[in-house]
Amino acid sequence: MTEAPVLSVVVPMFDEEEVLPLFVARLRPVVDGLGVPYEVLVVDDGSQDRTPVLLQRERVSWPQLRVVRLRANAGHQAAISAGLARARGSYVVTIDADLQDPPELIAEMLRLAQDDGLDVVYAARSDRSTDTRFKRVTAKGYYDTMRRLGAHQSHAHAGDYRLMSRATVEAVNALPEHHRVLRLVVPQLGFPGGMVTYRREERPAGSSKYPLSKMVRLAVDSITGASIAPLRLATWLGLAGFVVAMLLLVYALVGYAVGLNVPGWTSTFVVVTTVGGIQLLCVGILGEYVGRMYTTMLGRPTYHVAHDTGEAVDTGP
Ligand code: UDP
Ligand code: MG
Repeated sequence: MTEAPVLSVVVPMFDEEEVLPLFVARLRPVVDGLGVPYEVLVVDDGSQDRTPVLLQRERVSWPQLRVVRLRANAGHQAAISAGLARARGSYVVTIDADLQDPPELIAEMLRLAQDDGLDVVYAARSDRSTDTRFKRVTAKGYYDTMRRLGAHQSHAHAGDYRLMSRATVEAVNALPEHHRVLRLVVPQLGFPGGMVTYRREERPAGSSKYPLSKMVRLAVDSITGASIAPLRLATWLGLAGFVVAMLLLVYALVGYAVGLNVPGWTSTFVVVTTVGGIQLLCVGILGEYVGRMYTTMLGRPTYHVAHDTGEAVDTGP
């Protein structure tokens, strides 16, 4: 694989042994049919099941399949970043392994990019009816919030299924931030982009690898990465608390002056819990930003590569 391929297909995979054979069976005819040199770069995100074994087995009969194994589970976004850092194609498509994103669209995305000279082609979901109600409601809340926080360019139904030109990939790789959320940073780079739409399909096998904890992590990374609005919210809450405290002070002093000091357990309790709650919330918000600054300052990589089958080929004389 000395010659750079025209297309790299980057696929993050975490414990996908059930869906892997189905995915390969659907992706391979599509990329074989493109008529251009390609590589399929699977990033094995520290899978604990038989995913690595199955991948090695597929490689025997599929030379264009390249496997980058991460030492530990780094998460969806970090896995994609690992793939982008290593992909060699003039165009790079990122796609989930669970067949919710139909691989057949790749041909159309590549044609659109080449014919119209586009740097990014987003694949947007025109229909999410196969997603669970919970997923749809949380997704809507997520995109509404992000839009309000200034991520105007990102399309509400475009996830991480997209095609990028080499220039775009290089720009993404050069970004300094660590916990980048690609669906938000790619549109912000400002490259000319186009869009294709598709129906979101059901996962044919296996289960979602996005538990609530990972969804919350993605949301927090998105918000803190996009804006410092929550810090301002903390300021406003502090200001409102101050005003209320002043009014209560006047009330207490007047009560003292006219001798109407009734011992009030409820009011004390309410004030203490409310102020305590607001303080804890604000400390938490501050903590998120401090933590983000801290991890960025440490400069530790967000993933560790155990091996890359594409590199083994390259180490010849
Ligand atoms: N994934 C990953 N690392 C993780 C979680 C998920 O590489 O820690 C991969 C997963 O194998 C799949 C893609 O990211 O290819 C999207 O995950 P999934 O389909 O489970 O998410 P959902 O569609 O439920 O949001
Ligand atoms: Mg999925």
